[in-house]
Amino acid sequence: MRQITNHMPTAELRALDAAHHMHPFTTNDALAKKGARIITRAKGVWLTDSEGETILDGMAGLWCVNVGYGREEIAEAAARQIRELPYYNTFFQTSHVPAIALAARIAELAPGDLNHVFFACSGSEANDTNIRLVRHYWALKGQPDRSIIIGRKNGYHGSTMGGASLGGMVSMHEQGGLPIPGIVHIDQPHWYLEGGDMTPEDFGLMRARALEEKILELGADRVAAFIAEPVQGAGGVIIPPATYWPEIQRIVDKYGILLIADEVITGFGRTGNWFGSQTFGIRPHIMTIAKGLSSGYAPIGGSVVCDEVAATIAQDEFNHGYTYSGHPVAAAIALENLRILEDERVIEHVRDVAHPYLAERWHALADHPLVGETKLVGLMGSLALTPQKGSRARFAAEAGTAGYITRERCFANNVIMRHVYDRMIISPPLVITPGEIDILIERATKALDEAYGKLKAEGLLQKAV
Ligand code: PMP
Repeated sequence: MRQITNHMPTAELRALDAAHHMHPFTTNDALAKKGARIITRAKGVWLTDSEGETILDGMAGLWCVNVGYGREEIAEAAARQIRELPYYNTFFQTSHVPAIALAARIAELAPGDLNHVFFACSGSEANDTNIRLVRHYWALKGQPDRSIIIGRKNGYHGSTMGGASLGGMVSMHEQGGLPIPGIVHIDQPHWYLEGGDMTPEDFGLMRARALEEKILELGADRVAAFIAEPVQGAGGVIIPPATYWPEIQRIVDKYGILLIADEVITGFGRTGNWFGSQTFGIRPHIMTIAKGLSSGYAPIGGSVVCDEVAATIAQDEFNHGYTYSGHPVAAAIALENLRILEDERVIEHVRDVAHPYLAERWHALADHPLVGETKLVGLMGSLALTPQKGSRARFAAEAGTAGYITRERCFANNVIMRHVYDRMIISPPLVITPGEIDILIERATKALDEAYGKLKAEGLLQKAV
């Protein structure tokens, strides 16, 4: 067998990648021509590529590497567990210590009476579980018609058939016949793009009341649940106006529908609390978790379920599960990750050190000629690119053109930021230090300067009419 290693020339690795590896969310033909950047190792907030460049990871991978890269303790925990019990299932009246310990630990950390965990291997799978769970719950309550789930346009809940259906990404619904039946979407609380002349507060109320209107239109006795991210992540780090969540909570309480908070990004410290639901004062019946649960060191996710829903589901056989639900190695890794988050007081670091410092530096970017607004909660932030300061105008070019150019300049300057259309987003490892934040901002500023120059030179600094 041919050995493919870190020591191979980049060009050869790229050629093999292009020949055999189908990348997610990628136009593979275009990538094949350009060649992927090949990441070979990482430590803390720093990635190293096959050319020996070091890159500051402003996205913590895909919003997941909360404790940073290169944690020996997690490697040790994984190795120990592989030696002791690499796999066993939990389907047929058996259990194992890592799954027991992790479920118990999550129950301790989760707010309210969210005391029960159904494990999956990813956020998408956990949301698929949620669809089946809430529908089965209402069926057991004698209300089988109560099956519609309301999500939001530009929400993101994963890429499986269920997850992508719950999400409201137009580009995903265009492919593969989505959404599946029984899932509908309401408008998002994205004031900058859609708020018009309204104040953010009024707009937040209006977008929350869209939920009530939808419930009344469908009939409350047909609505099973509402699912939303406390802060839309993949949608562009859209932090809702302060009026939004209290009104949503009022509405779900009034009509007795289940609230699913998708905490895949916002969980495990990202917003400065263990969960985004705490930051925004939400009381969900179910929380979706993944990503920061293991800091991305192993694929693991789950649904954290409140007492009443879990007790109802427990009355019947729930015909659902994954071979790797509660996988012992993934669970051992997650437990060690949670220990680090707690022992190193990482959430306190976000709240008391990293967030205040990043906030100061991030919001100062609002003075840049290309920046229309800056937003930040905990360590997830976004900035809107603008062709005309002070106007919230859109670019005349196709949405995402300016964002793509800016992201390319970030990449060239060895800082990872993502773009969602013409919004730039960051979500660095939670352990980032003030010194590293300085480097992040320095590189981001250089990238913005270069993008501004390029957009100007190409005549793209035009607003849409
Ligand atoms: N929900 C949210 C809020 C997410 O951000 C994501 C992933 N970005 C998912 C679900 C899907 O998780 P996964 O990619 O692990 O399936």
